[in-house]
Amino acid sequence: MDAIDFTDEYYDWIKELSKHPKIVAIGEMGLDYHWDKSPKDIQKEVFKRQIQLAKEVNLPIVIHNREATADVIEILKSENAHEVGGVMHSFSGSPETCDEVLKLNFIISLGGPVTFKNAKQPKAVAQHVPLDKLIVETDAPYLTPHPYRGKRNEPMHVKLVAEEIANLRGISYEEVAEQTTKNAEQLFGGLGK
Ligand SMILES: [Zn+2]
Repeated sequence: MDAIDFTDEYYDWIKELSKHPKIVAIGEMGLDYHWDKSPKDIQKEVFKRQIQLAKEVNLPIVIHNREATADVIEILKSENAHEVGGVMHSFSGSPETCDEVLKLNFIISLGGPVTFKNAKQPKAVAQHVPLDKLIVETDAPYLTPHPYRGKRNEPMHVKLVAEEIANLRGISYEEVAEQTTKNAEQLFGGLGK
């Protein structure tokens, strides 16, 4: 949204902050065609620069994509984002798109929408994605899972996301919790240890 305000000073500032040992990834970055504050060509340019930054500091990328899947994938390819990889935050694409981003060294993150009754794609992806390529997220205060939809989201509600994924896959909640935690630790380099 704010790509139009991006400057070299911000770039240098983010890069400097990225060296702090508690910084485990660069993001969210990406494209959002839902809002029209920043023109597409500017968003694309800033997205590319941020990918380059992530590669320079050798940290994984957290992708935000809204109504821009084709362009996001094209840029991930052209900028060789697979070198650092990362995660598709709050993934809302199809199982086919899921396969495509997995090939680019990105894993899938699902949040509250997977619990919504009419969320066909997230449910299909929850069943389709290999369990070692999946993490769960809160996106708090947004994307509150059912049955708290409409209220402010809290991190504790992420349990409902993992429970729904377990139901959809026909496996235990514990298995989903354990594996997605492992995946997050691997992606973010031993986060929380
Ligand atoms: Zn986002």
